[in-house]
Amino acid sequence: MSKRSTAIAAVFLDRDGVINEEVEYLSDSSKLRLVPGSARAIRLLNERAIPVIVVTNQSGVARGYYPESRIAHLHHALDESLKDEGAHIDRFYYCPHHPEGLGKYRIDCECRKPKPGLLHEAAKDFSLNLKNCIIIGDKASDIGAGIAAGCRTILVMTGYGKKELASWNQPFQPGHVAEDLQGSVEWLLRD
Ligand SMILES: [Mg+2]
Ligand SMILES: [Zn+2]
Repeated sequence: MSKRSTAIAAVFLDRDGVINEEVEYLSDSSKLRLVPGSARAIRLLNERAIPVIVVTNQSGVARGYYPESRIAHLHHALDESLKDEGAHIDRFYYCPHHPEGLGKYRIDCECRKPKPGLLHEAAKDFSLNLKNCIIIGDKASDIGAGIAAGCRTILVMTGYGKKELASWNQPFQPGHVAEDLQGSVEWLLRD
């Protein structure tokens, strides 16, 4: 049996540069643009009842660029755009911290990727076996978090992906490299 045909317990998605176009410290929903094909890819997972879980670093909060409340607004806008295409995210997890951030957000937390805290939190909430989960991201930190959690990993070439791959300097490699989210999901679901 191929690795790909193993049941998929959940798919973790990085947000910026994977689902929506990368915009530095995105917080303004008027700047939210879906990556072409991403809604369709999420819908394919929804149709198979595979949980789609967003795990996103939002250090813009710790850096004082936008208030934490803005994240919920942005995620609501993202939900609305996806709904237009019959797709939905099952849950959003985010890290608002940064070790050099402001106030209560200034912590060296366990949830900022490449640490696997967000994945462990989701695994607890959804009773997931992380070995049967996949993370799809555009940065080495996404791949690192996935590997630390024992997930399979896919690096996409949207967002920072191309740049990250060209300057790859990590003791680990992505399990697979795909053009974009749509390519990743098609690869995952292919038998
Ligand atoms: Mg990203
Ligand atoms: Zn954190």
